[in-house]
Amino acid sequence: MYFLKNYVLTKQPSYWFNHIQIPYTMMGLRKLFHTSNVLNSLPIRDGLPMRLLLLGSPGSGKGTQSSRIQRKFNISVISSGDLLRQNIARGTKIGKIAVKEIERGAYISDDIMIELITKELQNKQQNWLLDGFPRTINQAVVLDDRLAMTNRSLNLVINLHVPEDVILQRIMDRWVHVPSGRVYNLSYNPPKISGIDDITGEKLTKRSDDNPETFKIRLQKHRSLTEPLLEYYTKSNILITCYGRTSDEIYPQIERELLKRFGVGNFY
Ligand code: ATP
Ligand code: MG
Repeated sequence: MYFLKNYVLTKQPSYWFNHIQIPYTMMGLRKLFHTSNVLNSLPIRDGLPMRLLLLGSPGSGKGTQSSRIQRKFNISVISSGDLLRQNIARGTKIGKIAVKEIERGAYISDDIMIELITKELQNKQQNWLLDGFPRTINQAVVLDDRLAMTNRSLNLVINLHVPEDVILQRIMDRWVHVPSGRVYNLSYNPPKISGIDDITGEKLTKRSDDNPETFKIRLQKHRSLTEPLLEYYTKSNILITCYGRTSDEIYPQIERELLKRFGVGNFY
C-alpha cells in the first residue's frame, strides 16, 4: 500500500496521461451528460504548450476571441486574414493577389497561404494560436505534416458556433484596425472615440468584404471548403465546439477549457 501510494505521487500528470487511456465510450457518456455549452471533452495534460486553432464561420468572432486569449495567456496569434490585409496595405506581391480574391469573397490559393503561414510559424515561441488557417483540407494536411516534423502538432481546435441570424448584423457593425487586427463592433464593443483605435489613436476602417453580397459568398465558401475540417479534427480527437450568440457568452467557456487543459503555470 505504502509503495503504491508513493509510486502514484512521484509521477507527473503527463505520465498518467500517457499510460492510462480514457475509453472513448466514456467520453461519449460525458458528452451526453455535459451541462456546459462546450461539446466534447478531451484528455487533460497539464504543462502542455498551447498549440491552438480557432475555427468558425465568417463573423463568428475568431478575431475577438483570439485577442482575449492572447491577453489572458500571453500567447502569439497568427491570423491569416490580418496578415493578408497587412500585405495589401503594404502593396506586396501577395497583397496584390489577395486584394482581388478577398473582394469577391474567394479563397487565396493553398500554396500562397501555406507559404505565408509556415514562415510566420517558424519565428514563434512555443505557445501560439492560429486564426483563419488552415481553411481547406489540403492546408490542414500540409500543416499537420510540417508540424509533426518538428514535434509541434496542434493540440486543441476550438470551433465557434454562432447562429447565422446574428452574424450578418455583426459583420455590418464591424470596424477594424488593420495594423494590429483589433476588431470593434458598434453594438458590443465600440471604440471610445468613433472611428478611432483605442490604443494607437489611428483610423479604423471597414473591410471591403464586409457587405451582404460578399458575405453570402464567404459563407458558401466556408460551408463547402472549411466545414469539412470539423470532421477532420474530430477524427484526430482534438476538436471542441463552443456555442453562443455573442463573444461575451463564448469567451468564458474557452477560458475555462484552456485553464482546465493547459493549467496557468506556463503562461505567467
Ligand atoms: P471573420 O474575420 O469575420 O471571422 P473570415 O474568417 O471570413 O471572417 P478572415 O479570416 O479575415 O475572414 O479572411 C478574410 C479573407 O482572406 C477570406 O475571405 C479569404 O479570402 C482570405 N483568407 C484568409 N485566410 C485564408 C486561408 N487560410 N485560405 C484562403 N484564403 C484565406
Ligand atoms: Mg477574422
